[in-house]
Amino acid sequence: MLVAIDGPAGAGKSTVARAAADALGFTYLDTGAMYRCVALARLRDPGADPAALEIGLGERVTLAGEDVSEAIRAPEVTAEASRVAADPAVRAALVARQRELIAGGDWVAEGRDIGTVVAPDAEVKVFLDATPQERARRRAAQSGRSAAEVLAEQEERDARDRAREHAPLTAAPDAVILDTTGLTLAEVVDRIVNLSTTRRAARETGRTA
Ligand code: C5P
Repeated sequence: MLVAIDGPAGAGKSTVARAAADALGFTYLDTGAMYRCVALARLRDPGADPAALEIGLGERVTLAGEDVSEAIRAPEVTAEASRVAADPAVRAALVARQRELIAGGDWVAEGRDIGTVVAPDAEVKVFLDATPQERARRRAAQSGRSAAEVLAEQEERDARDRAREHAPLTAAPDAVILDTTGLTLAEVVDRIVNLSTTRRAARETGRTA
């Protein structure tokens, strides 16, 4: 089973997807980390080929064996990630890898285009959202930076993610839209776990009927 979680920066996707994966016993896939690895590689070497990069995902994120878990969260890598993500060759290479990964087993995958492009047939699709101010407040609290600075960067990144020609950030027509403003992490995770177990039960009942 695949649970697809999409949404803008700071909507809580990573925390929520990780917790939902734990609760369901599924594997968590952070596709943003893959775009961030390509961004880091391109900042170091503008000619880096996304299809040839050795990206390791798990507790730590690695690039050709180097632990880049912290490096990929730097503000310049974050900004560059949304730039490389507009490149159709980068997207094609990463989407192919993501599809290979999620082809086996049970996954909670988060990103911008999971429910629309990577896995349009995902059984559960959630689009997580929150007001821009709330999203910036959360990111600022995590990073220790000012909310105003985070908000300005976030607006620029969201605009790029929403406006790009290939796989723009948008909710799939069949996604459940979950506005997390004012909800606790536990409430959001509960909603997703309930959606997933209900869908699975419906599928299993359908099979035996
Ligand atoms: O989710 P995260 O903030 O780590 O993603 C970094 C950037 O990678 C996003 O701003 C977006 O441009 C890009 N991205 C994407 N498609 C995904 C995941 C991330 O375009 N599925």
